Amino acid sequence: MNRFSYARPGSVADAVRELAGNPAAKVIAGGTNLVDLMKYNVERPTHLVDVARLPGLGGIEEGEEGGLRIGALVSNTAAAYDERVGERYPLLASAILAGASPQLRNAATTGGNLLQRTRCYYFYDDATPCNKRVPGSGCPAKEGQNRIHAILGTSESCIATHPSDMCVALAALEAVVRVAGPEGERSIPFAEFHRLPGDRPEKDTTLGADEIVLSVDLPEPRFRTNYTYLKLRDRLSYAFALVSVAVALEMDGDTIAEARIALGGVAHKPWRVPEAEALLRGRTPDRSNFEAAAARILQGAKGFGHNDFKIELARRAVIRALKQAADGTPQSQTDKRIQ
Ligand code: SF4
Repeated sequence: MNRFSYARPGSVADAVRELAGNPAAKVIAGGTNLVDLMKYNVERPTHLVDVARLPGLGGIEEGEEGGLRIGALVSNTAAAYDERVGERYPLLASAILAGASPQLRNAATTGGNLLQRTRCYYFYDDATPCNKRVPGSGCPAKEGQNRIHAILGTSESCIATHPSDMCVALAALEAVVRVAGPEGERSIPFAEFHRLPGDRPEKDTTLGADEIVLSVDLPEPRFRTNYTYLKLRDRLSYAFALVSVAVALEMDGDTIAEARIALGGVAHKPWRVPEAEALLRGRTPDRSNFEAAAARILQGAKGFGHNDFKIELARRAVIRALKQAADGTPQSQTDKRIQ
């Protein structure tokens, strides 16, 4: 492991100051991803800024219009089992509990979940080229082992996926990420927080190197009855999604008044297509409408060989998730079997 200095600032302002002017500094909180990356020699920070005990970021507070503000240091477990989250945003609780293991969820933070890095095998292997790890070195995944890789929003430079479950639900719920930097605070709509790889795959998010996440703000609660988080993976626990789908519907009798669909495991960011959601508005919840929405959200999907199966898997998953949400299929927070 490389040598690094360590600081434990006492305030957000001090944390931002520790980061400013040092592009090789990294923020650490739960450490569930960064410590692994340091052991694998993928991340080599010269300075670690430990924010785990920063005051004011460890709670869940009431937000505007009945919403909630989840502090960046709230653990995944605390968020998932918070009564208000479960009652107002059950889709979010389901998605969090579909991720990782209980031990990891106890340590992992809300801010860290947003910032976790791809699980591309080549990214973790510093004996291979990887544009995300070493810009300009190449992308062996395109011609290599790409079973877990993206089918949407890829670029010549990178076909990696974003690994989070929680973020897929946050995308569907249109959360807002509040961050702090040298210029003060700003809010980033969730759809703009993660980015597509383009020709800068080393950048996962639009967060500045000298900014830290303060909270995730959830808007007015909706979608408390008709929702689903469907995660398809190689085993039922402690595995990343091959494809996941967050669906949130607002029903008006037998008509869909509002629809949100976000996909995980298929792109460099949670994948939403507003045009696909618009196709469902004012329609009845039947298979032909679900198929039309699935076709639209997957328009342009492209496989790279080993991951070709994801296109059909995602199509079927979207249709099934829409049906489950429309039916109001009960969601167990602990039983991960597919309903
Ligand atoms: Fe690296 Fe992205 Fe290619 Fe994986 S897909 S090897 S992360 S550039």
